[in-house]
Amino acid sequence: MKKKRSAGLPALAGEPSVDIKNSRWFIEFTTPHEAHMHAMKRFIVNAKSPFQQIEIADSFQYGRCLMLDGKMQSAEKDEFIYHEALVHPALITHPEPRRVCIIGGGEGATQKHCIWHNTVEKCWMIDIDGMVMDLSRKYLPEWGGPVWRDKRCIIKAADGRKFLKESKKSSFDVVIIDLSEPVPGGPSYMLFTKEFYRIVADRLTPDGVIALQCASTQAPDLTMHAMIIRTLKTVFPYVRPFSIEVPAFDLPWGIAVAGKTLDPVALSAHEVDRRIADRGLKNLRYYDGITHQGIFQVPKYLRDAYAAPGDIITDDSPLFTAI
Ligand code: SAM
Repeated sequence: MKKKRSAGLPALAGEPSVDIKNSRWFIEFTTPHEAHMHAMKRFIVNAKSPFQQIEIADSFQYGRCLMLDGKMQSAEKDEFIYHEALVHPALITHPEPRRVCIIGGGEGATQKHCIWHNTVEKCWMIDIDGMVMDLSRKYLPEWGGPVWRDKRCIIKAADGRKFLKESKKSSFDVVIIDLSEPVPGGPSYMLFTKEFYRIVADRLTPDGVIALQCASTQAPDLTMHAMIIRTLKTVFPYVRPFSIEVPAFDLPWGIAVAGKTLDPVALSAHEVDRRIADRGLKNLRYYDGITHQGIFQVPKYLRDAYAAPGDIITDDSPLFTAI
């Protein structure tokens, strides 16, 4: 009898090939009409916190992954791209970041990258969801590394907007906004508005810098990303967006660095490399002087989208993700 061919995908080195029908899948819609299917070796956590659905699983392709409300947040094999891109261009733009505040970022990786800078004396991580932080500490220990016990790290489960509102003026040199996407009814949508960015600007020192993840940069629909950039521009004189490729996200992702007086683009590759060396940053895999110069050179369709007129995001008219 002729042997039936199994519907299999090519194997990665050292892995069995994936049996499409019998595998367990995590399916994430990247647009309303497209999805990325991750074959999973095993699902480890599926928990509901007061704020969101939390899943942790081991994927064949990207190793351990954290998903919130069905959206990939970070994966073991490529999280370095997202976290280095979010943290280092902003901290390097500031000549001496001592006090850094992260809003969101519950996996701990953003904070780990901040405290790698030897200038940082205190670093706050304010994530609304204590369960994300507890589960990350237990199941994603490499993401945060030392942060959970480092004396410079202040970790608090609280709403980031409320925390900043109650903080003093000029409290931080750098604020990093590492939030989950603005899903309706979710915890983050009031932290994408002009009023929120005004609070951040006020809590930053006069030379302060902000960095944030700011939605997908996938053409053709740049609505969300462009709205965030336009909104930032109503508050910060220098707004420099760029786009990164994180394979586990399966779509290009936007990050922006913005400053009151400092412009990241003004730094030469040489100066970036000099600051990297002075700060004691040794284990970078994505970011250096050449990357810094290259990332801000975005393609024309993105520059056109930033220049086009359009709505901004306000407390009365917040932004929600389309999926
Ligand atoms: N890498 C991510 C991505 O894909 O965009 C973001 C990572 S991080 C896990 C997002 C965090 O934002 C979550 O842990 C979530 O609890 C937190 N968050 C959402 N709303 C928040 C709020 N209002 N204040 C503080 N943290 C918030």
